[in-house]
Amino acid sequence: MNEQIQPATLRVFIALAPPDDAKEELARELRPAYEAYPRMRWNRIEDWHITLAFLGELPVTTVPLLRGPLADLAAGRPPLHLSLRGGGHFDERVLWSGIDGDVEGLHLLADEVRAVVQECGVAYAHRPLRPHLTLARSRRNDPSSAVEAAAGLSAFTGSPWPAARLHLVGSNFSRGPGPIRYRDIEAWDFAGGARPAG
Ligand code: ATP
Ligand code: MG
Repeated sequence: MNEQIQPATLRVFIALAPPDDAKEELARELRPAYEAYPRMRWNRIEDWHITLAFLGELPVTTVPLLRGPLADLAAGRPPLHLSLRGGGHFDERVLWSGIDGDVEGLHLLADEVRAVVQECGVAYAHRPLRPHLTLARSRRNDPSSAVEAAAGLSAFTGSPWPAARLHLVGSNFSRGPGPIRYRDIEAWDFAGGARPAG
């Protein structure tokens, strides 16, 4: 097969990512859970993110349409002050860390991002935002790990950080055992929000 052939579609979402020190704080908190629940499929720390809008499979030719408007949105707004706090689960299977701080601002940002996407003529998943950072998924025959691990996170209070960059992310570049799940297609700093890459 010719490896030069590019895929015709990309699975895309728009997200924020905590800085490394905020992620490391949570990773330290999770160490006992990594040991206690080895059967869960843990996301890599490099892949941790907070989804604002999920666009799903897009023709690769659509992606450039999003660039200018998302760049303008980022350039026109200040950083958001957030922290990671506590934990929970979706459907007893998906383990996540909660988001604290300017959660109202996070909802407004997601609304703005979704409006921009819509103005570009691109569809997105109209699910209401439930701000979270997914940590792990349990396997089908493992009903208790996500629930227990979520309870174990209830006292966690992470340090505040500025969410200062908007990420347009390509998902599932490598399915199966490959190490790379997500990759920034592009990322834009918020106004006054420049910080070292990471
Ligand atoms: P996989 O689906 O391959 O197990 P994943 O769920 O991590 O992996 P994606 O499905 O590409 O990867 O999702 C990327 C991000 O978008 C994740 O944070 C996911 O929770 C979120 N997401 C996926 N589908 C939706 C949806 N329909 N509505 C809102 N967010 C979604
Ligand atoms: Mg998914």
